[in-house]
Amino acid sequence: MQRLFVLFDLDNTLVDRRGTLADWAAEFTARHRLADEEQAYVLSMVAERAYPRTFDAIRIRYRLPTSTAELWRAYCTDIAALVSCPTEALDGLDELRAAGWRVGVATNGAVDIQRAKLRAAGIAERVDGVFVSGEADARKPQTRHFALAASRCGTELGDGGWMVGDNPVNDIGGGRSAGLSTIWIGNDSSWPLADARPDHVVPHARAAIDLLLLHSAGHTRTTT
Ligand SMILES: [Mg+2]
Repeated sequence: MQRLFVLFDLDNTLVDRRGTLADWAAEFTARHRLADEEQAYVLSMVAERAYPRTFDAIRIRYRLPTSTAELWRAYCTDIAALVSCPTEALDGLDELRAAGWRVGVATNGAVDIQRAKLRAAGIAERVDGVFVSGEADARKPQTRHFALAASRCGTELGDGGWMVGDNPVNDIGGGRSAGLSTIWIGNDSSWPLADARPDHVVPHARAAIDLLLLHSAGHTRTTT
């Protein structure tokens, strides 16, 4: 019998990182008394992904008197305080596990910020395992990333399994290469690549969870 196993991406899949960052950039420029027009630059520096070295560049540009380590710590604390996971998605994670799914998070990024967000958003205690790329220098879309995430959940690739995420290359392309079925969180946009389409497209995480619950209900009926 196929195991029920699903990995979720974190940013812009379970939590809204984009909206959070705009609020943070406004707060950061005000706190450090930077001109309002610098908000866009600061935002662009952290838009894709932020690491301690990002704050080295920001510190140098604005000649901030604060150390890079302190700026990074403050960023982790601020972002963790700002992110949230919709209640219906949190409930959905519980429902999946109650229905027999192993549930994990597979995310690129630095360990401290990603773990802080997972705890603050209430996700950490609702999943079986988490793998952050910074823990072992294994980034999505590398298959090794998905294999390590599966291992954290006490399972392995090559046994069915699903990947849910918003990034066409890292989550969907990577998930597919790792042998996972894929659900793309499209945020109401259309699939941007010519090929490598996901198995399903949904508007948000809760819709992906509903689809998985339906799958497992059907799965139970056909295997018992
Ligand atoms: Mg993402």
